Amino acid sequence: MFILEKIAEYAKTDRVALINRNERLTFAQMDAYSDAVAACLLAQFGAEDRTPVVIYGHKQTEMLPCMYGALKAGRAYVPVDITVPADRVRDILDTVKPKLFIDLADICSGGEIPADLYGQRVDTAAVQQIFAEYAGQKPDASHWVQDADPCYILFTSGSTGKPKGVPISKANLDNLYREFSAWVADAKGDVIMNQISYSFDVSVVSVYVGMALGKTLYTIDKGMMENLPELYEKLATSQIAVWVSTPSFAEMCVVSPRLDANLLPQMERFIFCGEVLTHKLTETLFARFPGRAVVNTYGPTEATVLVTAMEVTQAMLEDTRPIPIGIPLNEVRFAIVDEAGNELPEGETGELLIISDSVSAGYFGRPDLTAQRFLEWKGEGCVKRGYRTGDAVYRLGQYYYFCGRIDFQVKLNGYRIELEDIENNMMRVTNVARAVVLPVSKEEKIDHLVAFVMLQSPSQLSALKTGLAIKEELKQYLPSYMIPRKIVLRESFPINTNGKVDRKQLALELK
Ligand code: AMP
Repeated sequence: MFILEKIAEYAKTDRVALINRNERLTFAQMDAYSDAVAACLLAQFGAEDRTPVVIYGHKQTEMLPCMYGALKAGRAYVPVDITVPADRVRDILDTVKPKLFIDLADICSGGEIPADLYGQRVDTAAVQQIFAEYAGQKPDASHWVQDADPCYILFTSGSTGKPKGVPISKANLDNLYREFSAWVADAKGDVIMNQISYSFDVSVVSVYVGMALGKTLYTIDKGMMENLPELYEKLATSQIAVWVSTPSFAEMCVVSPRLDANLLPQMERFIFCGEVLTHKLTETLFARFPGRAVVNTYGPTEATVLVTAMEVTQAMLEDTRPIPIGIPLNEVRFAIVDEAGNELPEGETGELLIISDSVSAGYFGRPDLTAQRFLEWKGEGCVKRGYRTGDAVYRLGQYYYFCGRIDFQVKLNGYRIELEDIENNMMRVTNVARAVVLPVSKEEKIDHLVAFVMLQSPSQLSALKTGLAIKEELKQYLPSYMIPRKIVLRESFPINTNGKVDRKQLALELK
């Protein structure tokens, strides 16, 4: 596998692979520690076993060696970030049924995760012990993940209220590297940003493409994001040349005028993915980082991070249309279709289908959902995998433009959220009979969520306190980024002609 081969190649030099606060891992350590994890997996569970390894944590230095170690033992890994509450971690463990659960953030110490959901659990100290105990062992490359084997499984918000797993294979990742690596390699500087949680796929740009190019991953963790003076201090010494994030993270950073080319003199290019890139952010970056490239990319987790790329130009900023989501990468074919599946001509808006070698085999253990969203595309002399994105898109010339969703999935602060996921979990909250969640937009993107709630029986508390109590209880089921900012209590919902809750009518109330 290219990434593992590349790490082994750079291990012969003194290059630094990862900077995480005061800790550093050279490529040699990354290679050796991941070998140790693989050797341990092979020794404990055998070469035949392919059960994915679940890794719970955030940006701990041990995360990456554990992830690459799983690959070296032929297993996929499932990264689960600390923002995921225990209830969801239980769902993920129950779906994956891991034999090894690497718990780098001690979620099990609270007793909320029953031990029968996983086989063996190792904490940070035990991982360190594995690094030491298996030091020097080098499992043969014949054990590594092969073409169609999954490398990672990312769990994203699912409309039923339970997260769904997207497995990405070695072949998918190879394709991403082949098609996209030049966009990262064009930057001469050595340091690439490592800010996105490993459980979100934009992190793959740094963890696979950046790492395989021999760049140093500079880590920005949750603690730094919650302490902006510290964040700017770290950025000032980071020497980052390639910025990789959602636009939301950059928007948070540009709030301070300190974020400019003086703070980040090595900066060469900004690579954005995952949500709408606004004119405002791009204008700010052009002004503060003259001559540096801003690259917009687009793609869903199901198609391995991104399937377009495009450098934003001044002319695009002067255009009243949104900034294009990019030009499909060479191998990628886009089809824009109407409801009957007929391809639409240039300029007409329809659902975007992605046809590419980067498209996943389908949802983990969910053939029903897979059949709904994935397809085989026959054309131009070959059969390729396709994915129905649910994104409303039109094309003008070589550029594609995003016009929102055709369903209830939204992006808020870079996080992918199914509104029905929130609604279904809200109905688990005490005394909530029905909930409808709507996004509220500001400038070109979604700013926050509002939940309209019908109670089972009248509350003794004020509306404000009832709303606060609902939000508090909801935290048991959902990560904080999915909790609606505002709760509006209602005695009934408007109904449309199909007999369903009239979301458009409710949306008008928010204007
Ligand atoms: P995720 O699987 O979390 O990467 O989310 C994928 C979804 O994010 C896509 O289907 C789009 O709705 C949205 N998205 C990704 N990239 C962009 C972009 N550059 N502009 C607008 N929306 C985007």
